[in-house]
Amino acid sequence: MAHPKRRHSNARTRLRRAHDHLVPQSRSQCSQCGAFILPHRVCISCGFYKGELVKTIRVKTKKKE
Ligand SMILES: [Zn+2]
Repeated sequence: MAHPKRRHSNARTRLRRAHDHLVPQSRSQCSQCGAFILPHRVCISCGFYKGELVKTIRVKTKKKE
């Protein structure tokens, strides 16, 4: 099996891993209801996209016992 000839230095490993961090998801606010939404996506709380109703959102209701 192939084997590394030389050991990588700590700096070289750390330089490679410097780009491995997670980037926080960008958020924008819905123009209709003000909820935080993912950009270029329909608002999940009111169903609006670019000020237009695209999807009617059904609200979950608890069943009566
Ligand atoms: Zn909304």
